[in-house]
Amino acid sequence: PAFSQLGLNPVLLKALDAEGYVRPTPIQSQAIPGVMAGRDLMGIAQTGTGKTAAFALPILHRLLEQPRAPQRGGARALILSPTRELATQIADSFRAYGKHTGLTVTVMFGGMPIRPQVSAMSKGVDILVATPGRLLDHVDQRTVNLSGTEILVLDEADQMLDMGFIAPIRKILSKLSQRRQSLFFSATMPREINALASEMLTDPLRVAV
Ligand code: AMP
Repeated sequence: PAFSQLGLNPVLLKALDAEGYVRPTPIQSQAIPGVMAGRDLMGIAQTGTGKTAAFALPILHRLLEQPRAPQRGGARALILSPTRELATQIADSFRAYGKHTGLTVTVMFGGMPIRPQVSAMSKGVDILVATPGRLLDHVDQRTVNLSGTEILVLDEADQMLDMGFIAPIRKILSKLSQRRQSLFFSATMPREINALASEMLTDPLRVAV
């Protein structure tokens, strides 16, 4: 299959062309149609499989398909990442694939100054990529409001567990609307991660690569 057969918005195909992507990887061809249709996803995949584009492309597609201003202090799509390095890479990927969309991307993690993050969030953003601890600081300070989030991604859930982020993640989940789409990625599925996935996901599409 080719990217052009997945039904993605043409402005995304144009960006993929510029990136030199010709064909979707297995996780992309298996995940993109279901996520575009609004389904929850449980993806068992390691880094290097193309999992970032597997969630970024259908998210960008959906945000374009249903244009809406983000809530003040909020984001339409929230991506949680265990590390600042991964958060930065994910934000860069959204910016590259979303180059022709006009959608806004912000990244926040611990160690970055707070004030620029507050001002970046004040009007709201389309896509927010964050590490859990820093995001929770903003939620507690009421500089971020998650109630309008339409799509949530939890990336590298097993790493989150190893880094002690399960409690902050549960607190973040409690601030989100139940009426949201959720995507869950993990390289391995220890029992606690499986339990978290079952709580977060409704009738998920399951993809293992
Ligand atoms: P990831 O698993 O998301 O970390 O992606 C691994 C690498 O593969 C990144 O450098 C991506 O830019 C690249 N990549 C992802 N999807 C494709 C694709 N369909 N064709 C070529 N390169 C890709």
